Amino acid sequence: MDTRTDTPTYDVIVVGGGNAALCAALSARDEGAKVLVLERAPRDERGGNSAYTDGLMRFAYDGADDIRALAPDLTDQEVAMSDFGSYTESDFFDDMARITQNRTDPDLCEILVKRSKSTLMWMREHGVRFMPNYGRQAFKVDGKFKFWGGATIAVSAGGPGLIDSLYRCAEKMGVEIVYNAWARELIFDGTTVSGVVANVDGVVTRFPSKAVVLACGSFEANAEWRARYLGPGWDIAKVRGSRFNTGDGLSMALAIGAQPYGHWSGCHAVAWERYATDFGDLALTPQYQRNTYQWGIVVNTDGKRFIDEGADFRNYTYAKYGRAVLEQPGQVAWQIFDGKVLHLLRDEYRTRHVTKVRANTLEELADKLDEVNREQLLRTFRDYNAAVREDVPFNPNIKDGRSADGLPVPRRNWANKFDTPPFEAYAVTCGVTFAFGGLRITTEGQVVDTGQKPIPGLFAAGEMVGGIFYFNYPGASGLTSGAVFGKLSGGSAAKYARVAETVDAV
Ligand SMILES: Cc1cc2nc3c(=O)[nH]c(=O)nc-3n(C[C@H](O)[C@H](O)[C@H](O)COP(=O)(O)OP(=O)(O)OC[C@H]3O[C@@H](n4cnc5c(N)ncnc54)[C@H](O)[C@@H]3O)c2cc1C
Repeated sequence: MDTRTDTPTYDVIVVGGGNAALCAALSARDEGAKVLVLERAPRDERGGNSAYTDGLMRFAYDGADDIRALAPDLTDQEVAMSDFGSYTESDFFDDMARITQNRTDPDLCEILVKRSKSTLMWMREHGVRFMPNYGRQAFKVDGKFKFWGGATIAVSAGGPGLIDSLYRCAEKMGVEIVYNAWARELIFDGTTVSGVVANVDGVVTRFPSKAVVLACGSFEANAEWRARYLGPGWDIAKVRGSRFNTGDGLSMALAIGAQPYGHWSGCHAVAWERYATDFGDLALTPQYQRNTYQWGIVVNTDGKRFIDEGADFRNYTYAKYGRAVLEQPGQVAWQIFDGKVLHLLRDEYRTRHVTKVRANTLEELADKLDEVNREQLLRTFRDYNAAVREDVPFNPNIKDGRSADGLPVPRRNWANKFDTPPFEAYAVTCGVTFAFGGLRITTEGQVVDTGQKPIPGLFAAGEMVGGIFYFNYPGASGLTSGAVFGKLSGGSAAKYARVAETVDAV
């Protein structure tokens, strides 16, 4: 294999080409650093998981003025027909604590929450456009869109829009980008990191630098690592996003003594189209989402419910329900809906890429779901129907308390009887998004070694940072986390490089 060693020395090399990496690159450039981005994917697949997103970003805001500051294109009329409410820092902290079972690292969580608004504003200054997410995070009630669940804002044109804006800005600001650059190793002399070795189109190339920011995702696309760290069965989960996030950054850092941190056996995983492609496909992936289970029930092939579909808003439950599906026989489940709620299903339930059964009676549905235990399924419907609190009005905008009481698996909100045809059932399996385990960093974004000491020259951001999410995840936090820690680490790396240069000069 060819080897090249003659590249110039960069101030900061960023490994990865998603949201966290690009935010790191822009931030380092803001500080005047000479920056190189090494993206493993070819140009037309750039952007990692970030490119697959809806662009939803959770941030702390106090009311409509904050939303308008981020989305100044909003008209007075649009604002008048919207109830944005507020999502304060204290709401964000409470959600992080509750969702992670009080495990989130308090210092990292504080950075995430307190810098969320200013980081989104900074992204706006760097060309990212935002709009309230009317379609998916608000329902129209009495002529007004009421937002729920803390994920009010989305990037215009979603993940692809985010990635295009960030790359456009990076190119304009003079960040160098190499595609097909598969980083394999850190250049490390036993104390200090001073560059990256990457395979670029089959040529092993040494890229010297004063500092390196690792922002190359987690290990979710590596079946062997999933089985090793997440546990048995995870090797056969579907990967929702990029096929390039195979744990390389983690492996390179661990090899030089970086400290693993956070929930290494935990991950973000959702209910996903049963026959989805094994990895994400930028054209098809949006059609594989199955996130409106809270309007119906979910059963396994035994015909039994196994989750509280209405425990909370979708934003607070969907990321842990993939694991629940993986644990069922055959790693499969059916989401079943009554005719009364079909209008609430998201558009992706209406695409060609669904595994769907439709029937006019519950008996006919049970017959058609031939892999599901027929008698138990009909019993599940009967018991469920008998338990629904019809005295409480159904309201999808709030946790309405319309429960189904006394069942072996509780049901807290949005319960409806199965009494109105047609009935529809959708088959799902588990789709993994990203793993929660990562590296330990300081509050400046610098990677820490197993002896608790910051590693000179090494920084990390995005999915690679451990200690933020445990067990579950408040929807729309991944992009915010990538942006906040990307901006932090890129800026810190640039400052580190400047100091390193001064020391060299002396
Ligand atoms: C289908 C889907 C929908 C989602 N929707 C949302 C949403 O709406 N809101 C939200 O907040 N989060 C969402 N998420 C989660 C979100 O995508 C992630 O939390 C976030 O994008 C992670 O950003 P990142 O930059 O750390 O990683 P990524 O965006 O995955 O970027 C990693 C980059 O590293 C590159 N790379 C990997 N290995 C190497 C290597 N060895 N050398 C060089 N480069 C390498 C990859 O090619 C990629 O460019 C979604 C995820 C998926 C899959």
